[in-house]
Amino acid sequence: MVRVRLAPSPTGTLHIGTARTALFNWLFAANQKGKFLLRIEDTDKERSKPEFTENILNGLQWLGLSWDEKPVLQSECIKQHRKAIQELLDSGLAYRCYASEEELEVMRETQKASGKAPRYDNRHRNLSLEKESEFQKQGRNAVIRFRIEDDTQITWNDLIRGPMIWKGSDLGGDMVISRRAPSNEIGDPLYNLVVVVDDSSMGITHVIRGEDHIANTAKQLLLYKALNLKIPIFAHTPLILNSEGRKLSKRDGVTSISDFKTMGYTPEALANYMALLGWSVPEGMNEKFTIKEASEVFGFNRINKAGAKFDWDKLNWLNAQVLHDMSKEALLNSLSPLWIKEGWQLPNKEWCLDLVELIKPSMTLLNDGVKQAKPFFKQPTLKEDGKAQLEIEGAKKAIKFLLDELKENPWDGAEKNQANELISLTAKKSGFKKGLIMKSLRAALLGEMNGPDLITTWWLLARISQDSDRLIRCL
Ligand code: GLU
Repeated sequence: MVRVRLAPSPTGTLHIGTARTALFNWLFAANQKGKFLLRIEDTDKERSKPEFTENILNGLQWLGLSWDEKPVLQSECIKQHRKAIQELLDSGLAYRCYASEEELEVMRETQKASGKAPRYDNRHRNLSLEKESEFQKQGRNAVIRFRIEDDTQITWNDLIRGPMIWKGSDLGGDMVISRRAPSNEIGDPLYNLVVVVDDSSMGITHVIRGEDHIANTAKQLLLYKALNLKIPIFAHTPLILNSEGRKLSKRDGVTSISDFKTMGYTPEALANYMALLGWSVPEGMNEKFTIKEASEVFGFNRINKAGAKFDWDKLNWLNAQVLHDMSKEALLNSLSPLWIKEGWQLPNKEWCLDLVELIKPSMTLLNDGVKQAKPFFKQPTLKEDGKAQLEIEGAKKAIKFLLDELKENPWDGAEKNQANELISLTAKKSGFKKGLIMKSLRAALLGEMNGPDLITTWWLLARISQDSDRLIRCL
């Protein structure tokens, strides 16, 4: 049974990169009828915050990435982490290193000065008992390091990148697995050790994560062997890049899932788009899909090794498609809370549904449904182009004729077609061209020349008695 996991650190909001990793894990689990698990890596006490955990869980839920089993809190597994470290100490695969920060700094500077890459020189690997007790007497605290032999070779078959080979000498010397602590204690266990212990105890079969973890994987494989644990299969997904081809970062603007939500992206479009960041659909399949549909055909063979460029146009296109394909009822459900938040009074449901139908085709973001609905709830001021239209010769007269016509044939919007009749009658009586009448009517009703279908606009405003006032103010 496939068991995969997302292991976010609650030190920030849910980032698009983490969410995309979550999605690939979810898709694979769903494809394999396996389990998708969560582990909250909350061991950095200073930077971890409960509100970030909440933001991450909410974001995953919003995207439709439901998880199985109760999320594991890493901080609750510390006993196991310490036990593993003790085991490594007992077997001689780990040891205490008393080198101070200053000494390590001098070491690195010397290495750099002679043109070498800085690395720990394994200086305390074989301390004599005398030397060790001397350090202890000096009151020095120690980190615990795991031995990495320079000549060791680490290999694995990555599901995305194929055969991988690393040399022990490329891993920076013996690796710190616990923070500094008095020499009779074990300090706080560190990332690589902790992940191995947790992935193993959660029975993780496949570790799917970003390619920035490749060097960690090499280190972790050594720990799996040293602790005699079953090694999972690894897959390293490509990074998400900005338009300049660099790793997408906060500096590129929006990167948090909650921000995408605020901007008016739908979870369906965002999840769809994230799947396309690195993965491509099999031939013949539409690029617009649900994650359920994607899960049926998902596999690592269609994941690219190269980084995936973030393309706003494509995301916007997908979002527009999702909105246009929504039923007016569903779209109203998403929009009405936003309208109410603006403090607008919603007339009856039927009217709201007709408004949704009117503005839907021109929406790209959900928030466009606020912008575009606004002139129906609030009388808009006259913009430059609206003013200019009303200055055209005959424009105001045409409005006057329309008002007279309305007086003679009062219209409450019951019959939509009456709008056309009123315009035709006005044209006939006034001798003005229909075009002039309609443009002036648009300027009066919406305050500007761009906007949705005029007849429907008027019809909606007439039904809430918001049309005459707008005409009158133009005279
Ligand atoms: N907490 C780590 C991160 O957020 C987990 C990496 C992993 O998946 O092992 O980068």
